Amino acid sequence: MSSLLRSLTDLPLSRTGINRNYAARLPENALADMAAEPETRVVVIRSRRALASGASLRLVAGTDIDTDQLLGYLGHTLQDAADAPAGTTVLLAVEPDDAPEREGAEWLDLRASGDALSARDADLLTESMALVNWHAGYAFCPKCGADTRNDHSGWARRCDNGHELFPRTDPAVIVLVLDDADRLLLGSNALWENNRYSLLAGFVEAGESFEQAVIREVEEESGITVTDPRYLGSQPWPFPRSLMVGFEARVASGTDPAALRPDGEEILDLRWFTRDQLRDQNSGLLLPGRTSIARALIESWLAADGGSTLDDRTEDLYPVAR
Ligand SMILES: [Zn+2]
Repeated sequence: MSSLLRSLTDLPLSRTGINRNYAARLPENALADMAAEPETRVVVIRSRRALASGASLRLVAGTDIDTDQLLGYLGHTLQDAADAPAGTTVLLAVEPDDAPEREGAEWLDLRASGDALSARDADLLTESMALVNWHAGYAFCPKCGADTRNDHSGWARRCDNGHELFPRTDPAVIVLVLDDADRLLLGSNALWENNRYSLLAGFVEAGESFEQAVIREVEEESGITVTDPRYLGSQPWPFPRSLMVGFEARVASGTDPAALRPDGEEILDLRWFTRDQLRDQNSGLLLPGRTSIARALIESWLAADGGSTLDDRTEDLYPVAR
């Protein structure tokens, strides 16, 4: 049995480049007042993608943004960068899909490109997508049905009957399941192409701990009983509002690892992999993209024997889809 895996640090969407500065959200008209400052910069979103230049966000001056499109206050930057000194106020704006196209505009998708962003841009865009997706679902008050409006600079919504709403996050566990031979269990989801495999994962249910969710989800999806869930790290996954919580867990004694039982609905196939099988350049396996915590967990397990990880090879040798 291998030694315990190290905790995951620097997950692509968990890096910090912003101080969210809660107190700055609260004054009346804070968004419009901050946008009027000449140094303020804005992350612009359209159709769930961010205005960008290559693998960097293209921040726009606050004075160049229509105030009707402002959605939230993201915070102030922590480090000097070529496009904004440390301490720069950054806001979030959402353009309508049919707004006139900007000169030379490129649009970046966080899920596809989050790993290539700087810590500052990853932090800004992860926060942006979480807010954009939350606001999109709460135009009406779930308590009384009335219209809601933006409050606290994008960090709340309020209806005229006094109900206040705040952004919510749905926790989901994702698990490195290992057997006594130190093999890794991966499953193929019904919604994926053939030969794509990833870790077992699922949402935490009401009234359940993370550890209970790990044991229940693995049992439901594979028929395997695991024990000793151990926390390895977490990453926001704002598509639309998940928080992925990574664990490792071992097959319980008395449980036969060969007794795999895919649920047949969500999971169609399950396989145990050795490290060498995952490293095999001719396997044709499709594995999770580089922005995901699933990928980071798999890489961490691969690195634990001192051998190569997937990153050591070029993409064309190993068809890892992004
Ligand atoms: Zn209400």
